[in-house]
Amino acid sequence: MVSYCPICGKPVYFGEKKRSLGRDYHPLCLKCQLCKRQLTAGQHAEHNEQPYCTLCYMKTYGPRANRPTVQPHRT
Ligand SMILES: [Zn+2]
Ligand SMILES: [Zn+2]
Repeated sequence: MVSYCPICGKPVYFGEKKRSLGRDYHPLCLKCQLCKRQLTAGQHAEHNEQPYCTLCYMKTYGPRANRPTVQPHRT
């Protein structure tokens, strides 16, 4: 069975796939969408179905990052 890489949209064949967080990626596609660092399957973060390294994820979406949509109150 062929699955499709969520990054490039092309089919990922058995033998070349990197399975991580329930999706199959091409080895070259499984990289951080911000710093382009290659990621290890199962050891990275994910946001909007895009893989990120944990560093970029924490910087961008972590608890200390600015999230304009989630700001009930400004003091
Ligand atoms: Zn791909
Ligand atoms: Zn990164």
